[in-house]
Amino acid sequence: MSSIINFRRGNAYETLHFPEDAPTHECGIFGMWAPQRDVAQETFFALVALQHRGQESAGIAAAAEDGLHLYRATGLVGDVFTPEIIEHLYGHAAIGHVRYSTTEDRAGDALNAQPLMIRYQHGELALSFNGSIVNAAALRRHLESLGSIFQSSLDCEVFAHLIARSSATILEDALQEAVAQVQGGYAIIFLTADRLIALRDPHGIRPLTLGMLGGHYLVSSESCAFDTLGGSYLREVAPGEMVTISAQGLQSRQGLTPAVPPSLCAFEHIYFARPDSDIEGVNTHFMRKRLGAALVQEAHLEVDVISGVPDSSISAAIGYAEASGVPFEMALIKNRYLGRTFIKPTQEQRELAVKLKLNPVRKLVEGKRVLLVDDSIVRGTTMRYIIHLLREVGATEVHVRITSPPYRYPCYFGIDTSARGDLIASNRSVEEIREAIEADSLYYLDIETITRLMGNEGLSLCLACFNGNYPVSVPGSH
Ligand code: SF4
Repeated sequence: MSSIINFRRGNAYETLHFPEDAPTHECGIFGMWAPQRDVAQETFFALVALQHRGQESAGIAAAAEDGLHLYRATGLVGDVFTPEIIEHLYGHAAIGHVRYSTTEDRAGDALNAQPLMIRYQHGELALSFNGSIVNAAALRRHLESLGSIFQSSLDCEVFAHLIARSSATILEDALQEAVAQVQGGYAIIFLTADRLIALRDPHGIRPLTLGMLGGHYLVSSESCAFDTLGGSYLREVAPGEMVTISAQGLQSRQGLTPAVPPSLCAFEHIYFARPDSDIEGVNTHFMRKRLGAALVQEAHLEVDVISGVPDSSISAAIGYAEASGVPFEMALIKNRYLGRTFIKPTQEQRELAVKLKLNPVRKLVEGKRVLLVDDSIVRGTTMRYIIHLLREVGATEVHVRITSPPYRYPCYFGIDTSARGDLIASNRSVEEIREAIEADSLYYLDIETITRLMGNEGLSLCLACFNGNYPVSVPGSH
């Protein structure tokens, strides 16, 4: 997540963007089929639980006897929806979306908020999408040449047009045709008047989970939304599976395309997911603790204090502290009340932003050898500032341990890591990165350790941003 503040300079107000040194651009999706329940209100609560996956816009579409009702806007979930809007979104089923966006896809543009909604020959259809379609541009050109008119710059809109143009009379058949043409990493939930359909790309790159609430079905990017509603985890939507939920219950179509090896995004457990979520049945907090403990086995050294970069690295730092016997301390305190927008900052503004966002606790750090655990280093700028801050308040040594391998290659499956040239690890050795961030020592977990630890839990991973082996071939990536 990126953070922004507005501040006054002379007579003018400027906006300051503090980019996290971590991958961004995720989305969160949710759906429920629950006649006799207040589906919009409960979808609202679920979206609040998924807010960490996207803060630029939020939306809900609800299905009622008089058709689909949609509301979406830019902003946080709690700001977008009022009680009056929720009341308007009555019905027997709903889907929701929270979105993170980049400047490239017109951040803040309400047209790119989701769910998307279309009216086509078989009625109304809304969809919530998480991920990326790598051949979207080619599909869009082809569809436009056939007369399709796109209403947004979202690549997932090609799904809507492929469905609208299909001659299939059953929606599931039209979707299966679309899946055969679309390449990428995605999870989608569709809503019509009489069904809710959840599907996951054949590699299962983005997560999608089924839950239950009072005998009704729920679908979510992460299981923390089920816990929030008082529901329970049922199972994952399998890679390449399409699940239909309707008055007839739950039906599944497996193997929408020929089978391919599953490739769950490794960063879901490392960074994106909430620690209280189970992804593919594995709890994220416990997985991060295991990653932290692995760092102790591989590269421990004598220090006085273990700390993590809030929030996503706290679980791993606790795991490191438990395994090493060195106390865990909250050496960095995060300011949670910064707003968000986008503007390119100057160097001076970046330093100010880091100070506003993360403040070291002088009494914990002064005169101490500090070991800092983080989940990733993308550009390296923020980590360097954090190390400066710790030294400024008296840390005698600052050592950095990272619970992932060096982030060397861009992601094409819905995660914004900027161009390869911006990635600090794209053309530097670990020692050169250590020098650049000015740490006393630096160690990354290697790909084998990640594969072993997550593989022991039955996870088969996409590791492309570490090794460049993309599970789906990406046009123009080489
Ligand atoms: S390339 Fe990296 S961030 Fe992108 S899906 Fe694969 S593991 Fe996740």
